[in-house]
Order: sequence, then structure tokens, then C-alpha cells
Amino acid sequence: MSYVTHLESAIDGTHLPHGELQTLHEGRPLWVRYDLEAVAAAMTKESVAKRDPTMWRYQELLPVDDDTKIASLGEGMTPLLRCERLGAALGLNDLWVKDESQLPTGSFKSRGLAMAVSRANELGVKSVAIPTAGNAGGAMAAYAARVGLDAYVFMPADTPIVNQYEAAYYGAEAFLVDGLITDCGAIVRDGTPHMGWFDVSTLKEPYRIEGKKTMGLELAEQSDWSLPDVILYPTGGGTGLIGMWKAFAELAEIGWLADERRPRMVSCQSDGCAPISTAWSKGERFAEPFPDAATAASGLRVPAAVGDFMILDAVNESGGQARDCPEAFLLAWARRASALEGIAFAPETGACIGVLEMLVEEKAIDPDERVVIFNTGAAQKYVEVIGAEPLSTLPDPVDWAAFSASTT
Ligand SMILES: *Cc1c(COP(=O)(O)O)cnc(C)c1O
Repeated sequence: MSYVTHLESAIDGTHLPHGELQTLHEGRPLWVRYDLEAVAAAMTKESVAKRDPTMWRYQELLPVDDDTKIASLGEGMTPLLRCERLGAALGLNDLWVKDESQLPTGSFKSRGLAMAVSRANELGVKSVAIPTAGNAGGAMAAYAARVGLDAYVFMPADTPIVNQYEAAYYGAEAFLVDGLITDCGAIVRDGTPHMGWFDVSTLKEPYRIEGKKTMGLELAEQSDWSLPDVILYPTGGGTGLIGMWKAFAELAEIGWLADERRPRMVSCQSDGCAPISTAWSKGERFAEPFPDAATAASGLRVPAAVGDFMILDAVNESGGQARDCPEAFLLAWARRASALEGIAFAPETGACIGVLEMLVEEKAIDPDERVVIFNTGAAQKYVEVIGAEPLSTLPDPVDWAAFSASTT
């Protein structure tokens, strides 16, 4: 059995039972709450260290009751990579990337959806549905397949091509919708009473946050329980940023953190879709829907986030910032950083690097501070972006003297 005690409304604190399916309360997300005293008594750093290198190693801090219901593809314990060359390009001496591109289905959506599908499976759900404009649909389809649930995925017609194909490839019923992600969400809402679906949209059920929380748990363990100074996170719905901030609070509560320091959480967006940074700059707790949202970083194309106040609360409590960088910078940085480090940086991560460049210039970050960027997805999934610069062709016959001069 898990150590979950109840679910708690993030907007008004109402308690709800966790043994049954729950969605939103007053249109807003739910927190999963644990008996942390019992967790502290049951779990030791030594026992965790001996477990398999997956996100399930933190089982006492996770919501699944019955291990046999878990949908897993071995997700978790992604590498934390030091980036000296990218750091030098930015004027930073202690820059690290947590490389989530190596996860099943090529993005960190696998963490949240592994958890949401596992809990849905445990609570008797037979069929799951999701509106998506990017990586979430493929991840849901993969985990649903893993435990034999039916999967329905609804995507705007301009969703990146790999995301369209992967959902169908993992056996989901996948549909293109002539409209926006909000129209796809409306289809899921309309269809649910007829189809018996469970809606696993971002933050509409309580467990995707718990899956993404494991990024924070892993980062802490990989840093010997001493957290970095700054974390940069590409923010769409905000699940990961919210989840990590929750992870740090829970680790502090069970007495596992080496000191009192908490990272400054920096929420990063593109100026093509910047609702959170816009609200932050105005000092507001809730974000206005962002008009005409457009960015090649599909994970950031979330014009209205149902957990906006949870993101902004975390950013502000941490002493961080919510910022956006120009769309052109973000794409240029993703490409340049990939060439500097050999890491497949997703366009979303380009927003973090663009914002980081601004913060270093503004002296909001000291060159010796430890900075961690989350590379949330694999560049290979964005063929439209990475194929934008065509390759040169080789002349026939090759004049090697001219060739040598032209490539060096
Ligand atoms: C979904 C997604 C994001 C945004 O994640 P949230 O936790 O919803 O803010 C960032 N990057 C990639 C690659 C994504 O797929």
C-alpha cells in the first residue's frame, strides 16, 4: 500500500479521497498528500540506493498501491551531464543538463504518463483519452499499450509529424482535429460520457505531477541531496516545475536534504506563447490566455494552463523568475547547443538556454553558481525543426584541395 493519505484541492484546500478516480475540483488541479512521517520511518537513502535505476525506486513517495498494476518501460534515472562547452559559450562554470531525451518515447512525458496510466489501471479504468499537440499522446499510447488499456489520442492537424505517427504506431486510435488543442480537449470532454474514457490531460487528474516529481527526486539523489542554485525548465502546462518544487518540499520534510538551500526555479517560454512569463512580469497569480500562440516548441504551446497559479507560486516561493525568449533565439540555441555537446536538445530546451543567456547578461546568475537545465525531449522527434537546414551535396568528382579548404 502507498503512503497517500488524501488528495487536496490546490485552489481551496478541500480534501478528497484517493481510492477513487478524481479529476479537477472547482476547475483546478489536486495535490497528492502523503503521511510523510511514516515515509520518513519506512524509507532510507541506503535502501533507495540499492533499488533499480528507475523512477519507481522512490516508491514510498509515489501513489501506487499495487505494484502489479504499474505500467513501466524502465523510465527514470536519466543522466545529469556536465556541459563545459555550452557553459563556456554562456559564461558559466558549473552548468549541467538533466537529459530527459533518453526516456522511453523520447521525452519526459513518459514520467507523468507512466504514473497516470498506472493509477488509472489500478482504479479499474479500461480506456484512456488525451488531447495533445506534442509528446503526451505518444507517451500515453505507449503506457496504455503496456498494460492493455484502449487509448484515444486527439491532435491538432499541425502537430509535429513524429507525434502523429507514434501514437498510432503504439496502437492508439489517433485522430487529427481541424482546430486547436482546446478543440481537442472539448472532443475528449464530449466523448467521455459516451465512450467511458478517463481523461489524462495535463493536471486534470492528480498523478502526472507525481510522475514528474521524480525528476526532482533524481536530481537530488544525483547531487548527493544538495540541490543546485538555479533550475531552468521549459514550461507548457508546468507539471514538471510544479512536481519538482513539490519533490523538494517533501524531501525537506522527511529530512533528506543536506541543507536549507532551494534552487531558484526559472520557468522558460517562447515569446510565441508566453502566458506564464507575461503574468509573472505583471505580478499576477493567474495567467490570461495567450492569443495566437505559435511556437515550433510544441511542448510550450499551451496558451492557458489550468495550473498557472501553481507554477507562479513555485517560481515566486523559490525566488526565481518566469521569462520568455524570442522564438528565433530558441531555435538557434537548440541547434548550437546540440552541436556543442552532442546532446539532442529539443526546441523547448532552446527556450531555457535563451533565457539563461539573458539572465547571465543581466547578472541575475553568478558565473560560479550551479545551474541545471532540463532537456525535456529528444530533437529527433522534431524533424520539421532539425531538417530546416538542408545538407550540402558532394561535388562529383571531388576536388579534395577545394573541399578541405571549404570545410576547415
Ligand atoms: C510537454 C513538454 C514540455 C512542457 O512540459 P510541462 O511540464 O507541461 O510544462 C516541455 N518540453 C517538452 C519536450 C514537452 O514535451
